[in-house]
Amino acid sequence: ADPQTISRLFALDSLLDAEEVAVRETVRRFAAERIRPHIAGWFEAGTLPARELACELGELGLLGMHLEGYGCAGMSATSYGLACLELEAVDSGVRSLVSVQGSLAMFAIHRFGSEEQKQQWLPPMAAGAALGCFGLTEPDFGSNPAGMRTAARRDGDDWVLNGTKMWITNGSIADVAVVWARTDEGVRGFVVPTDSPGFSASEIRNKLSLRASVTAELVLDDVRLPGSAMLPQARGLSGPLSCLDEARFGIVFGALGAARDCLETTIDYARTREVFDRPLAAFQLTQAKLADMALELGKGQLLALHLGRQKDTGALRPEQVSLGKLNSVREAIAIARECRTLLGANGITLEYPVLRHANNLESVLTYEGTSEMHQLVIGQALTGETAFR
Ligand code: FAD
Repeated sequence: ADPQTISRLFALDSLLDAEEVAVRETVRRFAAERIRPHIAGWFEAGTLPARELACELGELGLLGMHLEGYGCAGMSATSYGLACLELEAVDSGVRSLVSVQGSLAMFAIHRFGSEEQKQQWLPPMAAGAALGCFGLTEPDFGSNPAGMRTAARRDGDDWVLNGTKMWITNGSIADVAVVWARTDEGVRGFVVPTDSPGFSASEIRNKLSLRASVTAELVLDDVRLPGSAMLPQARGLSGPLSCLDEARFGIVFGALGAARDCLETTIDYARTREVFDRPLAAFQLTQAKLADMALELGKGQLLALHLGRQKDTGALRPEQVSLGKLNSVREAIAIARECRTLLGANGITLEYPVLRHANNLESVLTYEGTSEMHQLVIGQALTGETAFR
């Protein structure tokens, strides 16, 4: 029998329009030609040529691609999701670069910024000439950002920021940081040029996950900013949380890209690897594993597409994004680990992408709200009871 791709098995293309297929093909080709040949080496070296890549991603219109105006591509949310899927099929680190730039840093400025902030930052960020990061998490406050200690106080017309932000993607290479801090009037966001006196960032090394992604600690030591540095439209924690919702939406699609790459790799491997004088693919236990994984992947993609359509009509609710993030990442990590078993010893090397994806997905499981947080969000939607504390 002629082997089928998972997408053909589920007739997924019948659910996409021509623009969406074109975006997917463009990003798939770019990722295959420009990133895939180097990614294992970058992962091993713990590096990513983020600046170079950002310019190329910007040229393709992938930075802030679902935002309107200011040099952004203004594409649909579903197209953005499909682009995330294709990028993460190569590596979650590359998708993280795009998520943080477009959905966290650019989205925050686009949604909550002044006209002056938008004009200054969004066009160079869309082009990839300026890199952004998003500082919410602190060493002692991740799942519960309400406890944040970073503070901004008024001094005449200026703001003075003090505090530490931890685990910040792109933090040590960014030109601009969107930093969330407590003020007398609640949590507010600030646009902080990273060359401001008192701002420093140090890269976090020795990660076993997302090695092809820059992660940093930010220190703000009496960083003085003009009054105009505050994001005027963001008041309270709902500001940063709405940005996270945007990035999470990309992960709903993205994580399934990592899973697809694992499964495709494993199917190819199982068809050629001989055990007990027959291809590994010809054994019933193997086929049961492959069938179950394909089923979860296809179901995940159908849910992602449904959520994409909801977002494109403006109806998507945060608890629905939680459904998608919880499902996609949980199933993707399970698929990556199951694929690893089928690759045997070869599965533990960088020769194959499977354990690299599995390790990356450990970070994806934790950032943008841990699985437990999303279970609690869904639990709250189902019961009306808040069980976070
Ligand atoms: P904690 O909040 O300490 O949680 C530890 C465990 O306790 C988790 O399993 C959690 O689910 C569980 N838990 C917590 N509260 C409850 C509860 N009420 N009930 C049950 N269980 C609970 N942050 C940014 O701001 N910007 C970034 O760019 C960014 N990039 C990141 C990149 C990487 C590679 C990583 C790993 C993280 C990044 N983060 C970033 C931080 C990320 O968002 C946090 O790590 C995440 O929110 C979890 O916070 P924490 O690590 O402090 O874990």
